[in-house]
Amino acid sequence: MKYISTRGRIAPVEFSDAVMMGLATDGGLLLPEKLPAAGREAIKAWQDMGYRELAAEILSIFTTDIERGTLQELIRRSYATFDSPKVTPIARPGKYLILELFHGPTLAFKDVALQVLGNMFAMFLKSHGQHMNILGATSGDTGSAAIYGVKGKENINIFILHPHGRVSRVQALQMTTVPDKNVFNIAVEGTFDDCQAIVKTIFNDLEFKERYRLGAINSINWARVLAQVVYYVYAALKLRKEGADKVHFSVPTGNFGDIFAGYVAKKLIDPVIGRLILATNENNILTRFVMEGIYEKGTVVPTISPSMDIQIASNFERYLYYLYGQEPARVASAMKEFAETGRIVFSEKEKAYARQDFISASISQEETIATIRNLYRETGYVIDPHTAVGVAACDRLESGMNGNPVVCLATAHPCKFPDAVREATGVEPERPAKMKGIEDRPQRMKVLPASVARVKEFIEQEALPM
Ligand SMILES: *Cc1c(COP(=O)(O)O)cnc(C)c1O
Repeated sequence: MKYISTRGRIAPVEFSDAVMMGLATDGGLLLPEKLPAAGREAIKAWQDMGYRELAAEILSIFTTDIERGTLQELIRRSYATFDSPKVTPIARPGKYLILELFHGPTLAFKDVALQVLGNMFAMFLKSHGQHMNILGATSGDTGSAAIYGVKGKENINIFILHPHGRVSRVQALQMTTVPDKNVFNIAVEGTFDDCQAIVKTIFNDLEFKERYRLGAINSINWARVLAQVVYYVYAALKLRKEGADKVHFSVPTGNFGDIFAGYVAKKLIDPVIGRLILATNENNILTRFVMEGIYEKGTVVPTISPSMDIQIASNFERYLYYLYGQEPARVASAMKEFAETGRIVFSEKEKAYARQDFISASISQEETIATIRNLYRETGYVIDPHTAVGVAACDRLESGMNGNPVVCLATAHPCKFPDAVREATGVEPERPAKMKGIEDRPQRMKVLPASVARVKEFIEQEALPM
């Protein structure tokens, strides 16, 4: 399988090139030349598989330049770090179906993809005798999941900037207590925006970027989307086996990465997956896209589900490619228009097309808290505020689903967001074994002023040599 750019200006590349490229060199995002459909026979065979076996089946369709045995071993290693044998088990509190995606090392769904991506980076670099220095900024979840994805890998160093004292205590500890020598936490005396601006400026210094082989690990990497396709298929086929006709999903959405994986899964096992509920918090640019046909940049409102506090959705361009009938020239001109005016307006026909795939609701913080509280009171099951946004959207839209099951994705463990959970339930969320005593572990971080020069100087000292 070859990969192309949404903007159409690169020659098709292999999977490994797509992974190492991250962003396409023409500024677009990478996609498979054609979205595959597995067909009846495969779907039937997949119904009885465990998570890892299914992952190997699905990934192998997209990773034709990786040998089967190598892929299986990579998947085995990636999910050995998970504390559930099923990797992503389904919980059933009351009438709900909750797909728990938080059994990885940092207790968030990003681990499902970043464990795989870290191993892929290490493998491709090794086979080319190369190394890489990863640089990124985080306000919480992504940084720790990225660190756990590459910690201890020989040919990768990772530098993660976070705003000093402004990420939640648990999230900071998850990053700073990692003892591996290739991990460098930089606590910036400033805001998350300062961190992002510093990273952006450094990436724009092409000479510096080349010299230190800087790489990114953000949500636009195709391998991340791909790894996430697996759990949609896994859950849908389980419920299908139990007799469901169609299976819908409710997805707490920020950058559109996770729900785009749902779209790929829907095509892959057509017609098993029905609609995808795109659940947003008060940052509802994507809800306005689905319901009104207008994609318009807003200002970020900080909420209790911070990993969904976005202004623009970095993976949206992938869906745009299909919405525009796979015409890269139209994608390129729409993205140009968006850069200039901050908005894209869609036609009635395009709106109707999008409504076949998605339906959407935007959930307020009060509703989010009430949803955590009600579920806890009714069933004793505790969810985090991101998951609650998806559950609330499911409650609101379920009546339109013809009685078919809706699977709600649980994207983070509740113990990562103790303040919201305490406010809603009055109890402290319990921590899994691997998180107990995290406060007592030694911490490592470098505190630096919000200065590009100082961060560069630090990278120069600690980067893997040429
Ligand atoms: C990143 C994240 C999301 C949003 O996922 P996208 O792929 O950006 O849409 C939702 N919940 C949690 C807990 C996250 O960390």
